[in-house]
Amino acid sequence: MLRFDDHIAVAVSGGKDSLTLLRVLRKLEKRFPRATLTAVTVDEGIRGYRAEAVKLAKKSCKELGVDHVVVSFRELFGKTLDQIVSSKKELSPCSYCGVLRRRAIQMAAREAKANKIATAHNLDDEVQTILLNIFHGDAKRIARVEPVLVDPAGRFLQRVKPLCEIPEKEVALYAYVSGIEFQTCPCPYLETALRNDIREMLNRIEERHPGTKFTIFRSMERLRDSLKASMARTELRNCLRCGEPTTGSVCEVCKMLDRAVVA
Ligand code: SF4
Repeated sequence: MLRFDDHIAVAVSGGKDSLTLLRVLRKLEKRFPRATLTAVTVDEGIRGYRAEAVKLAKKSCKELGVDHVVVSFRELFGKTLDQIVSSKKELSPCSYCGVLRRRAIQMAAREAKANKIATAHNLDDEVQTILLNIFHGDAKRIARVEPVLVDPAGRFLQRVKPLCEIPEKEVALYAYVSGIEFQTCPCPYLETALRNDIREMLNRIEERHPGTKFTIFRSMERLRDSLKASMARTELRNCLRCGEPTTGSVCEVCKMLDRAVVA
């Protein structure tokens, strides 16, 4: 996942996973003089939630001596997530949030001149995403969720998930034992997410049948190549509106922002 001379943009939300990842990468980086870290925090604009996380992310970066960039939906897209969600309820808040945040991280990482993005998805996140994509019937996404995501054409920065095989409970344990101060209150939109139901279901199954999460993760590892091989390669072109790479004529971000404006 990582090279000795990488400039890694670490997506840091202020939660236990991202602050753990930041700490671990910082320890590693000290052993590699040509490696660089930049922390990137995205402020989606979620009232009563994100401000505390941004504060904790800033504090941690300062303590660890890591450069920190904070970007916001308002500054990049002209609206906060709260405004987008209240103007249009066509999609769930997490659908808007996920797409816009991925774009925001790509933009901030490019601006910081990073060559790689590291996100703190843990084993639970990965397995939830696999099931979520199956529930949505999204075959392309099922194949695309992988620990190392490379765009052969180099249009997107490479994305890696160093914690993808670590169960959420173990990440939480590391954070507590290391004395990391992280945000504990959940996002107010979490309750509305299908992911939340999948999380609860998986946790119930894991309790009764330990190892299930690993089994699903490993099954996907075995299936992914066959899935990819069975799909036609999608060519990327430039979005007619913003110029970012996309598979259609207008990218998902521009479509979402349009929908929010129309309402
Ligand atoms: Fe965004 Fe949904 Fe996560 Fe809240 S729970 S931060 S809306 S993805």
